Amino acid sequence: MYDCIVIGAGIAGAVTARKLAEEAGRKVLVIERREHIGGNCYDEPDEYGILVHNYGPHIFHTGLEEVYEYLSRFTEWHLFGHEVVAKVGEQLIPVPFNLNTLHMVYEKDRADILEQKLISAYGEGSRVPIMKLRENEDPQIREIAQYVYENIFLKYTMKQWGQKPEEISPEVTGRVPVVISHDNRYFQDKYQGVPKDGFTAMFERMLAHDNITVRCGTDCKELLCFRENDILFEGEVFEGDVVYTGALDELFDCRFGRLPYRSLDFRFEHYDQASYQGRSVVNYTVSEDFTRITEFKFLTGQQNTEGTTIVKEYPFAYTGAKGEIPYYAILNDGNRALYERYRALTAGMKRFHLLGRLAEYQYYNIDAMAKKALELADNIRGENQ
Ligand code: FAD
Ligand code: UDP
Repeated sequence: MYDCIVIGAGIAGAVTARKLAEEAGRKVLVIERREHIGGNCYDEPDEYGILVHNYGPHIFHTGLEEVYEYLSRFTEWHLFGHEVVAKVGEQLIPVPFNLNTLHMVYEKDRADILEQKLISAYGEGSRVPIMKLRENEDPQIREIAQYVYENIFLKYTMKQWGQKPEEISPEVTGRVPVVISHDNRYFQDKYQGVPKDGFTAMFERMLAHDNITVRCGTDCKELLCFRENDILFEGEVFEGDVVYTGALDELFDCRFGRLPYRSLDFRFEHYDQASYQGRSVVNYTVSEDFTRITEFKFLTGQQNTEGTTIVKEYPFAYTGAKGEIPYYAILNDGNRALYERYRALTAGMKRFHLLGRLAEYQYYNIDAMAKKALELADNIRGENQ
């Protein structure tokens, strides 16, 4: 009945399913545990009619033309240059720390000198990870690095990861480098924004295809079981491709122990006022227990609303308890080794594919995930032609 089974209806699963259904003519079954599609990109109107992102604020950003083109088949975009500020004392300063930020935190003559130093050390337009900047030999540059470390990274990272910046993988803090330019945008990508009618609508269109059946509210283990290297679908050996985008440890009942994750508690608040903070995102980099506040109407561009809804993000260590969601893989050698033990269990499963933030225990943005999904669908198609 089905040629292919995709587990999870997030960006990884949805793109794979659509491409296989449309270009390879596969009959695809998408199994999704939640009551809705979209994975962590899911959005919906709250009780006040304000479109909110239930699993944290998502901004699509990419420089990958093929990904932008592919997703644009299913949505128009509300594009903008995404900007973030950090609340440091009474000041709101642009993040990533850039030359404008430099001029806000140092008086003019000193900022002018420091700006020249940074430009001659790294070149205009360059992006320097904070952990690299801290190693610079020039004491004045190291002083800037210390300011950035203490006021942008230390407390925020402690909240987000429960560890200091030097204790986590440098690729994580490297996502928000010091930028040697006057560009206040959070990302440098050519395309930045959100789907015009929301992410969920984009996913609905992507999954609306005659060859795709979606079953929400169903854990894959209700339909599939894994016996040695065989996958059984409703009791019979399934010969087609299976793409799994859930957590890998869960598939094997966490037999080697749980893969560690950070989770988030999202607390939504509604206010009967036009605006709460006048912008989409404020990072709390030195105070508070939450990491950031997002005000949705400034992210989605929604106009037809009188009040406003915000969300505060409180990070905590994922334990696997019921209702908790694993959001961020904690990237280090020990955890990767544990992941590899689980992955080894799938080595003999011929047409079984791991894809996604959870299944690959990786830190992917939406666009990178979509690109990998497009590639996987192409590979599956090629292998079986
Ligand atoms: P998911 O979206 O997690 O989808 C996996 C799906 O599989 C889920 O729906 C899950 O319910 C389902 N599933 C799992 N196990 C089973 C099972 N056993 N049976 C059935 N279904 C199952 N990226 C950006 O590009 N821009 C951003 O601004 C951005 N902001 C983010 C903010 C936060 C707080 C977080 C956590 C991530 C953010 N990301 C952002 C990353 C983005 O969420 C991911 O790149 C993307 O969601 C990955 O898609 P995925 O399909 O791999 O995983
Ligand atoms: N970070 C920080 N202060 C900030 C923004 C980011 O310390 O104001 C650090 C923090 O460790 C965070 C990492 O940089 O986890 C990556 O930030 P990014 O915004 O990319 O995280 P995301 O929410 O997208 O996962």
